[in-house]
Amino acid sequence: MCLCVDAAFRDLKQSAIHLTCTMRTADQEISNIDPGWKWDHSYLQLPALFFTRVRPTPVERPHTVILNRPLAQSLGLDPAALETGATLFAGNELPHGAAPIAQAYAGHQFGHFTSLGDGRAILLGEHLSPGGQRFDIQLKGSGRTPYSRGGDGRAALGPMLREYIISEAMHALGIPTTRSLAVVATGEEVIRQEMLPGAILTRVAASHIRVGTFQHAAALDDSAALRALADYTRQRHFPELGHSETPHYDFFQAVMERQAALIAQWLHVGFIHGVMNTDNMALSGETIDYGPCAFMDDYEPETVFSSIDRQGRYAYSSQPQIARWNLARLAETLLPLFHEDRKIAVDLANEALGTFESRFQGHWLRGMRSKLGLCTAESEDAALIQELLDWMHRSHLDFTNTFRTLSDAAAMAEPTFVDMDFLTWHGKWTDRLTRQPQSLVEAAQTMAAHNPVVIPRNHKVEEALSAAVTGDLSVMHRLLEVLATPYAATAPAEYTAPPPAGSARYQTFCGT
Ligand code: AMP
Ligand code: MG
Repeated sequence: MCLCVDAAFRDLKQSAIHLTCTMRTADQEISNIDPGWKWDHSYLQLPALFFTRVRPTPVERPHTVILNRPLAQSLGLDPAALETGATLFAGNELPHGAAPIAQAYAGHQFGHFTSLGDGRAILLGEHLSPGGQRFDIQLKGSGRTPYSRGGDGRAALGPMLREYIISEAMHALGIPTTRSLAVVATGEEVIRQEMLPGAILTRVAASHIRVGTFQHAAALDDSAALRALADYTRQRHFPELGHSETPHYDFFQAVMERQAALIAQWLHVGFIHGVMNTDNMALSGETIDYGPCAFMDDYEPETVFSSIDRQGRYAYSSQPQIARWNLARLAETLLPLFHEDRKIAVDLANEALGTFESRFQGHWLRGMRSKLGLCTAESEDAALIQELLDWMHRSHLDFTNTFRTLSDAAAMAEPTFVDMDFLTWHGKWTDRLTRQPQSLVEAAQTMAAHNPVVIPRNHKVEEALSAAVTGDLSVMHRLLEVLATPYAATAPAEYTAPPPAGSARYQTFCGT
């Protein structure tokens, strides 16, 4: 494995000295809106190199574009109070008890190490839900911070609504993800390729600790800070690991396990993250940072949507290898905690990393079995699944709709595609289904629960965003309603249809 100690690390040390100065920003009023926040700021107990105290920069004319009332409720926050909370979500006023910071982190972006940090996001603090769960409440697009580099600290309305739509869709699909509580328009414009309406997203996350957060401490060569971060992250996300004799090693394995499960779930629904840099991989195991992500239509393992991913580094089928690569970067930072003897530590890291592939395969295979109604395990299942995928690939078939078409008992009895290769496969599949004790109806139920009817189709998301930025929110609300129950067979056909034939290849852009 590559042990990265290079010039970038030394630059980072320099910039960290600079970053410890406090930023001068406008003083906010404390809001008298109290939806029921229960703040706690455990992250502030970490060494100072992990954050800078900084306030959001107020905006001109904040108004709420969308509020996630069910999410507010589940957080124990009063939606009616938040309905009037545009000034809060804009950062013009601070909630009573908030302790705003920008978090410091580094990261490998497309393989290159860089010093980063929240350049346009501010963490208001951690809110404790009625169930005692801890959630980061973060404003994204809230103004410059000491980590902004050349950026304006702002975000545009379209991309923030896009994150809202896709993160909520992921949640409804049952995939671990950060969530979106609100989007406010700022009444200001942001300069991108063109002038765009500005906005701020309120993001809710189990935490914002990234692989890059560990890389930040390692790059500064601060072993005490690294140990503090490892202990903190373990206690926050893996409290069950406290009593082991090798807590840091167990912690690393547990992080790997969650990533293996997460990436498998992405593949099961055709999700492509698009920018799996190490700063966009959360230790909590949640999907984070919805930039150029998108869902695949036709099954094509090499699919890439991001305009900046010219080499296909983050293509659909490359995601497991990239996750492993990112985890290797995490392991590098943890070596001193694995063992004091570096050689032993490296061996331990490699041993753990060597299990990633089988962990991922295990999760992938379990999910794919469910997608095909296989409730038991047979050694030939992987080959059976691959045969179907290869046929779908050759036939340019829609990933989501093909699995859904197979998901009813009638389709099991009677082949739905008239194609020799499919008929051969169908025969093997139905034989396989009859070798398990579950009935075809039960198998169909399993399939219906694992094959979504509706995903956020790129053309439908674009349609909703185009209407929303001109002030018509109705298209987005209808889309969100359909995406909230992705496995229900009731979605109107316009949401399940692939993009119209002859549509231009969909591309996503990073200029968010
Ligand atoms: P992302 O591509 O959103 O994961 O961001 C990568 C890094 O660039 C993070 O450190 C962000 O905080 C920073 N960044 C992205 N956009 C801006 C912006 N408009 N202003 C300042 N920093 C930004
Ligand atoms: Mg990021």
